Amino acid sequence: MAGEPQADCLFCKITAGEVPATVVRETATTIAFRDINPQAPTHVLVIPKAHYPDAGSLAAADPQLVADMLRETAEVAAEDKVDATGYRVVFNTGAGAGQTVFHVHAHVLGGRGLNWPPG
Ligand code: 5GP
Ligand code: ZN
Repeated sequence: MAGEPQADCLFCKITAGEVPATVVRETATTIAFRDINPQAPTHVLVIPKAHYPDAGSLAAADPQLVADMLRETAEVAAEDKVDATGYRVVFNTGAGAGQTVFHVHAHVLGGRGLNWPPG
């Protein structure tokens, strides 16, 4: 069923506490934790606790949960004090765009200059 935990999903395991992570924020519906391979001084992943493979499928199934995630990206940026200097929220979608974990996640990147367009 849509949203149900997937046994082979790394981020479902982090949600369940089966894989450790440096959690910076948690709400009833979301978790935010530091990326294990940070690409910027602030590099936090915001995920829904429910499993959806990518942003589009989540948006189609549960628009409120998309809003929950985006609110949390802003809270993370404020807590890491990158909101004033600017930060980027990225949803890699599909292997060709660099998605490697197929549990939707927003990258929050900040604390350094960010080129546009991204590579
Ligand atoms: P994607 O490439 O799918 O957009 O992003 C997946 C992200 O998850 C990558 O930036 C990668 O560094 C991060 N990642 C992969 N495995 C782990 C892990 O076990 N713990 C944490 N905290 N991040 C992970
Ligand atoms: Zn999952």
